[in-house]
Amino acid sequence: MYPRLVIDLKKLQQNLDAVSVITKDHGNCSLMIVTKGLAADPEMCRLVASDPKVDYMADSRVKNLASYCGMARENGKKTVLLRIPMHDEVPEVIKYADISFNSELSTIRLLNSAAAEAEIIHNIVLMIDLGDLREGIFFKNEDQIRNAVKEILSMDHINLYGIAVNLTCYGAIIPKFENLSQLAEIAEKIEKEFGIELNMVSGGNSSSIYLIDKGQLPQGINNLRLGESFLLGNDTAYETKLPGTTDDTVILQAQIVELKEKPSLPIGEVGVDAFGQKPYYEDRGIMKRAIIAVGKQDTDLDSMTPVDEQMEIMGGSSDHTILDVTHCDKDYKVGDIVSFKLGYGGMLKNATSPYVTKYYVK
Ligand SMILES: *Cc1c(COP(=O)(O)O)cnc(C)c1O
Repeated sequence: MYPRLVIDLKKLQQNLDAVSVITKDHGNCSLMIVTKGLAADPEMCRLVASDPKVDYMADSRVKNLASYCGMARENGKKTVLLRIPMHDEVPEVIKYADISFNSELSTIRLLNSAAAEAEIIHNIVLMIDLGDLREGIFFKNEDQIRNAVKEILSMDHINLYGIAVNLTCYGAIIPKFENLSQLAEIAEKIEKEFGIELNMVSGGNSSSIYLIDKGQLPQGINNLRLGESFLLGNDTAYETKLPGTTDDTVILQAQIVELKEKPSLPIGEVGVDAFGQKPYYEDRGIMKRAIIAVGKQDTDLDSMTPVDEQMEIMGGSSDHTILDVTHCDKDYKVGDIVSFKLGYGGMLKNATSPYVTKYYVK
């Protein structure tokens, strides 16, 4: 059934091997694989869980963690919740996540109570914001960090597992030796002042991996959390490809449902499109236009690249995408299947859509 995602498990394994060589062998870091980009696809998660090189499996959604926490734990991996928890989901968090990332004491107190009730110890990683301005205690507020650590250490059912930073998300700030050194320094200060040892000082996501082979990842950083670099081979700081990886692990395939020659300019008064946007058209004369049965409900048109380089995406609506096939050598027909490589946004959207089926290359 189309549209479908073709997920190549061999290529995913190749990428996993490549990022693990960099992170573990070159960087002396533990490896946390982030599963949210493919919406915790079960086959992908099985591959990750069964790989001895992986130390942690992480996701931003508790629901995704719940789907694979049994398998992860059986294989000796800890499950990690990346998005700071809602008060409302605390009971599920302590059940499905071995570790959760946190920045609010009110939430950590709730986690402590729930863990006490369940008679377990829940691990938390305290988020520090180094300037990207998404989650975390702002790094300059040293008193806030100290007071948070002090209270966390007084909680009977919470273990302070480590600290972490997230960059290149809201503020698009690039990780460097300088800013990540501040995280390592904060970790050192906490360890000295409170006489404890932190298991994890996590230096970011796929935008930090490039630092390792440049020899610029600060000493104190001992973990990276990798989603996009594993799934698509991307260094997301400077948009380069990591050595040994491939970007066609996942391909979207859709079927042509109409193919006609039509003008390139719509006829009549121009209003707004199905999404309230005023469209822009270029006059290319008469075009050969293919309509495929996939649309904005399933995918992100800006995050798709036709495998046929002579094909161009013109636009689309909820359920249709229009392609210019005028200059294609291949003589497309109704019923033909066309393929697209995906960026992170396209992959996420397709993997999340219940209308897109999956096919695995093993
Ligand atoms: C999504 C996420 C990651 C993984 O990011 P990638 O760029 O896909 O590697 C890591 N950490 C946190 C907190 C995240 O939300």
